[in-house]
Amino acid sequence: MTQRRIDVGVLGATGMVGQQFLNQLAGHPWFVPAWLAASERSGGRRYADATTWRLDTPMADGLADQVVEPAVPGRGPRLVFSALDAKVAGEIEQAFAEAGHIVVSNARNHRLDPMVPLLVPEVNPDHLALVARQHGRWPGAIVTNPNCSTVVLTMALAALRGFDLRACLVVTMQAVSGAGYPGVPSFDALGNVIPFIAGEEEKIEIESRKILGSVAEEGVALHGMRVSAHANRVPVVDGHTEAVSIAIGVPATREDLRAAFDAFTGEPQSLRLPSAPLQPLLYLDAPNRPQPRLDAGRERGMTVTVGRLRPCGVLDWRFVTLGHNTVRGAAGAAVLNAELMVAKGMVE
Ligand code: NAP
Repeated sequence: MTQRRIDVGVLGATGMVGQQFLNQLAGHPWFVPAWLAASERSGGRRYADATTWRLDTPMADGLADQVVEPAVPGRGPRLVFSALDAKVAGEIEQAFAEAGHIVVSNARNHRLDPMVPLLVPEVNPDHLALVARQHGRWPGAIVTNPNCSTVVLTMALAALRGFDLRACLVVTMQAVSGAGYPGVPSFDALGNVIPFIAGEEEKIEIESRKILGSVAEEGVALHGMRVSAHANRVPVVDGHTEAVSIAIGVPATREDLRAAFDAFTGEPQSLRLPSAPLQPLLYLDAPNRPQPRLDAGRERGMTVTVGRLRPCGVLDWRFVTLGHNTVRGAAGAAVLNAELMVAKGMVE
């Protein structure tokens, strides 16, 4: 689709999520990570000296000697990915949008802004219409991807939208990689379950309703479904597993719901975006799947798996869903967002 590759920047390139962005961008057919930015502490240093590489894939060729710059608006390419620390992301991302940059962010700060799309390209590509409304505020744009657990949940729920979702109860079992580095102390994480992740339940409950909501005059009208989330940290490296019960308003058989999971597809697939999985949602029939070790990496971590669809004795139906938290739930999600924007001519 795009003939010439586009230079992109990464804000927060030296952090854990920044490394994941650079991993997603290595060899990308449309994007070249031409500008790496971080704090003043890292400015002027070689990338290899400014960061401690912690991924299980080697740093891409050519990155080590790239010089990191301070995150100053106006200097880098028009399109920048943000993996900034949430303590500073709000202000810095806004300054970049004011300087005309298109900021595709993984940080939480702007996710609930009524004019900012909280985008899952298979689920709510129409929310990109909000970008035009930002132009009264700044010449650039901010587009965000959801919290890692929320991406996985909304992919599965979106397949069932036609059955009038009324309520959703979700219990997450979240991998330690979602806590960054050094993250949860090993003494707490190993052989243990921690039934609390700060801010996570609130994010899942509100973000899922924004994503499944519809564009309205004042921003996004939240989906009417009630959501209750229990977030747990479990000793898994990668992959968030979620046990979900739903109440629906349209009577359905198991075959109806199963067919909806199987049929789920979206614009990334029809547009053949480079990071789009062929099958965004994959139903697994084995009674003990999905499992993080076996299923989180499907289609380079971009496929969300579903299984164990069965009646619920309290609500109507229940199932298990699973996704790769640092790929589909973070850097892969943001790169797919940017690909959709390019395909729609929003990054000229
Ligand atoms: P991190 O490893 O601490 O990295 C933070 C990045 O922000 C570094 O590149 C840092 O640069 C940069 N930075 C900090 N202060 C700055 C400033 N004043 N100006 C410019 N750059 C600055 O954090 P992380 O784990 O990658 O997480 C990044 C964000 O994603 C956080 O908001 C976090 O809550 C969120 N998140 C992370 C994960 C995960 O899996 N790690 C999961 C979900 C959400 P220096 O190296 O120069 O300090």
